[in-house]
Amino acid sequence: MFCDNQQRARPKCGFCNEEVAKADEMVVERKPIHKNCFKCGACGEECKVGMSLAVQINEYGWFFFCGKHKLLSPGERVEAIQARGFQKKSKK
Ligand SMILES: [Zn+2]
Ligand SMILES: [Zn+2]
Repeated sequence: MFCDNQQRARPKCGFCNEEVAKADEMVVERKPIHKNCFKCGACGEECKVGMSLAVQINEYGWFFFCGKHKLLSPGERVEAIQARGFQKKSKK
């Protein structure tokens, strides 16, 4: 007998790693993302699909950059997210 009690796993946000509810989901770079998480790592403005850049920054995880800030160099990106108070992700 099959039991259909199993809950289907919800996708996890590529940015904050929390589960993403369907109504709150958008897909960026093939990753599910909360709408609220799709913000520029440098200025906090909402990013627009097609205008923004998703970058993985060593030890900080994924960040998005708006049309203005996607032009920053890798070093400037790290400075910008540090300035906004993002911390390195500790690995377990
Ligand atoms: Zn999220
Ligand atoms: Zn920005």
